[in-house]
Amino acid sequence: MPKVYGALVDAETRCRHYASERDIIAIKFKCCQKYYPCYHCHNEAEDHPIEVWEKESFAEKAILCGVCKYEHTIHEYLDTQHCLNCGSSFNPGCALHYPIYFKI
Ligand SMILES: [Zn+2]
Ligand SMILES: [Zn+2]
Ligand SMILES: [Zn+2]
Repeated sequence: MPKVYGALVDAETRCRHYASERDIIAIKFKCCQKYYPCYHCHNEAEDHPIEVWEKESFAEKAILCGVCKYEHTIHEYLDTQHCLNCGSSFNPGCALHYPIYFKI
């Protein structure tokens, strides 16, 4: 299972910034290849700017379900509202933040 960095508050990758029932994913950042629960966690821990995933990298596994630890490719994640392995619902509000992580 990949290590998740940042201000975690529980074992399902919720963090100090996003801790609702549905905030159960962590994202691997292209710049440092580390999983963080959110971009605030990334920016508090790292001293470099976030590098977004380009379209040609969307086959990379970069989205971790905090409940079952299944790693989704970016393509899979952008295409679903729930975990493809355990069915847990993802927070639809995350879509507002896609441009921080992905070049769509
Ligand atoms: Zn980084
Ligand atoms: Zn956070
Ligand atoms: Zn899952």
